Amino acid sequence: LLQLAMPLNFLGFVYREIRQALIDMHTMFELIRQDLEIKDADGASELAVKGAEVRFEDCLFGYDARRPILKGISFTVPAGKKLAIVGSSGAGKSTISRLLFRFYDLDGGKITIDGQDIAAVTQASLRQSIGIVPQDTVLFNDSIYYNIAYGRPSASREEVEAAAKLAKIHDFILSLPDGYESVVGERGLKLSGGEKQRVAIARTVLKDPSILLFDEATSALDSKTEREIQASLNDVSKDRTTLVIAHRLSTVVDADEIIVLEQGQVVERGTHRGLLGQKGHYAEMWQRQLEVAEKSEDVAVPTLKN
Ligand code: ADP
Ligand code: MG
Repeated sequence: LLQLAMPLNFLGFVYREIRQALIDMHTMFELIRQDLEIKDADGASELAVKGAEVRFEDCLFGYDARRPILKGISFTVPAGKKLAIVGSSGAGKSTISRLLFRFYDLDGGKITIDGQDIAAVTQASLRQSIGIVPQDTVLFNDSIYYNIAYGRPSASREEVEAAAKLAKIHDFILSLPDGYESVVGERGLKLSGGEKQRVAIARTVLKDPSILLFDEATSALDSKTEREIQASLNDVSKDRTTLVIAHRLSTVVDADEIIVLEQGQVVERGTHRGLLGQKGHYAEMWQRQLEVAEKSEDVAVPTLKN
């Protein structure tokens, strides 16, 4: 009997392996299908951007229909204004940016830019008008110059350097032995999280989008880096409609509106001052950050007077 049990066991193992492989393949095809699903509407027009007002109206969305992630989100970012999105991890913040870029279609509601439904315009024109600075920037294994110029390959050397200056990374680049020709990425120079994010900001400056989406890094940055990124973001977001997914309250203080997202719903909204007055989630988050800041002098958090 033992002699029979062994191969049966082995067969069971093989069966489970094959089944897992099939499930993985299924997941893969699901992913591909999801990608293919996003198609330009018949006769889709080009997005015509004027001031770039961004509006989410009762947006419903789930990656899986059985598990809703955004449960009726509404907000408006007027042309050239800055909206900050805060909330716990998993609340749905990054999902909002993926939907604006139309990586997925909504299950309900709509997203408009200057009144045009983003599902009705070409994806190329939509994505051309939005610049994303992601949470974790992955750089190409190529020169810093190439990595910045990628934002607009036709840009001149002067334009690439001007973008780097605006992103406060130019001086750092010049301090490297090979300057703009320094190779970065997996097999090159390892840049810190803050440096990578500034390269991504420079790339976005070069692209010159009307809408800026900034997904702040969750990892702690030293206070100098944080101030530098803050300064470059402020320069870059001037006159652009900006959505910032913020993890540091120092970023949100000057936002025109802040929304607090919890489990796919907006639970509070207002300005920094207004929200502090509400003594709710936001005020509590702020208090917690102040306590952390007091413990470690290396975290830059502006005082309540700001
Ligand atoms: P946040 O940015 O606020 O931390 P996300 O928007 O990334 O949150 O995620 C919200 C929820 O959606 C999480 O529960 C997460 O697990 C889930 N989620 C995110 N991306 C995917 C995905 N590609 N497929 C399935 N679920 C996802
Ligand atoms: Mg996120």
